[in-house]
Amino acid sequence: MAPLRRLLVIAPEGPWVPPREAGVGAFRLEVTRVDSPESAPPGPWDVVAFRTDAFGEAEPEEVLAWLRRAAPEATFLPVAVRADPRQALIYLKNGAYEYLEEPLDPSEFLRALVEALENREAFREILEMNRTLEAQASQLRREKEELERRNRELQAVSRLAQDLAASLEPQEVVDRLGTRLREVFGDRSVRIGLWGRVPGGLALVGGASGPGVEDAPGPWASRVLRGEEVRQASRDGGPELVVVPMRARDRVVGFLSLEGNSRPVPEHEMEILRIFADTAAIALENARLYQAMRDLSVRDELTGLFNRRYFQERLRAEWNHATRHEIPLALLVIDIDHFKRLNDGNDHLTGDAALRKLAELLTRNTRGIDTVARYGGEEFVVILPRTGREGALAAAEKLRRAVARTRFPGEDAVPGGKLTVSIGAAWYPGASGSAEELLARADHALYEAKESGRNRTRLWGASDESRASA
Ligand code: GH3
Ligand code: MG
Ligand code: MG
Repeated sequence: MAPLRRLLVIAPEGPWVPPREAGVGAFRLEVTRVDSPESAPPGPWDVVAFRTDAFGEAEPEEVLAWLRRAAPEATFLPVAVRADPRQALIYLKNGAYEYLEEPLDPSEFLRALVEALENREAFREILEMNRTLEAQASQLRREKEELERRNRELQAVSRLAQDLAASLEPQEVVDRLGTRLREVFGDRSVRIGLWGRVPGGLALVGGASGPGVEDAPGPWASRVLRGEEVRQASRDGGPELVVVPMRARDRVVGFLSLEGNSRPVPEHEMEILRIFADTAAIALENARLYQAMRDLSVRDELTGLFNRRYFQERLRAEWNHATRHEIPLALLVIDIDHFKRLNDGNDHLTGDAALRKLAELLTRNTRGIDTVARYGGEEFVVILPRTGREGALAAAEKLRRAVARTRFPGEDAVPGGKLTVSIGAAWYPGASGSAEELLARADHALYEAKESGRNRTRLWGASDESRASA
């Protein structure tokens, strides 16, 4: 069936004005005629033909403005009562297909009308084609962007996996995770929380990428701890909060959260977040196991102090450093007085408790750079970097006095009812041969401290100036 086209005629009745319905060329025409623009019904119109005098004295510009408002899609066919070249030019430049003149022959008008319609048809096809091409182009653009984004995400995920495989410190895992998360979710605020057991329950023990982490575990914590994801739109329609648990085996070790963008987090980003959380959780668990294993190999189980093996390694390293740079270095060997009696008068567990208490006291009364180790049994050693003869004596006396002041479990059983220690000290450059020599000298000084009555400090090579009062 021939396509229907709508023609509006604004002109008095006349010979060229077609009847209400007509077939022209390949089209069926529905014609509406009015005398003046005011009485024109609303469009849409395919063609508007008008007598220029139907607009009164209006200038072509005003007529065109009206036409564009009333029939924005239409092609125009002005019919002039008297031909006016200036008027003709303005109309033809502004969307009129042809400038016709009275007296107008009906066949001449129909010819112009058919041409205008055909022209319009061709133009419409071009427009349509253009629109299709543009739609395809923007679809391709979207697909390209989508691919690029996925690619970025995949790269971030694979880089994260590589990064984390090489991380054995929990803080390092958190830092690297933070970097990768910001690569993917740069427009949101990203938080990483680590949960750990502390006396009295569970607390946030690490992480802290971004503000507000201190507040956590927040009200959603219990749900996340059960392994659930939490999505929370803010009350005022502001940024959405998304929290994903980090799960290692069956344990929730922390969470990742995203916030700070009113655009809801799309599912593919949730997927990425989950992958990040899983990868990080495994890395954190590995770091924790590694730490525990390393602690096992360097720590004494009973007291938590460094063990003898670690002490020996450390002493050698400190010795090398001190002798290379000629910086003083001191070593204390500490032995509990009459400890056998404490053990015998109580039980082994009480003795263990006393050892633990002493270990804690030694750690508390030394500097961060000092190394406190359990050398064996009830014997302890302290490496004091950057400490010479006087410093060694002061440090030893500080420890000895602290022990004498402190109550220990089961100490009633030792002579005098008070647990005490004897301390032997040696220092570099006082001893300059080797780390072994330093240790042997401190040990010898300890022997002298015991020989001369216990509960005292002896410096290697000193006669009596270092004898402390009991
Ligand atoms: P001295 O003043 O001469 O050092 O006397 P002492 O009794 O401390 O010396 P001795 O070397 O004869 O005894 C050390 C005791 O330390 C023997 C052992 O029962 C006890 N001991 C060593 N290791 C441990 C331990 O891990 N736990 C307990 N409870 N006791 C230990
Ligand atoms: Mg001993
Ligand atoms: Mg002893």
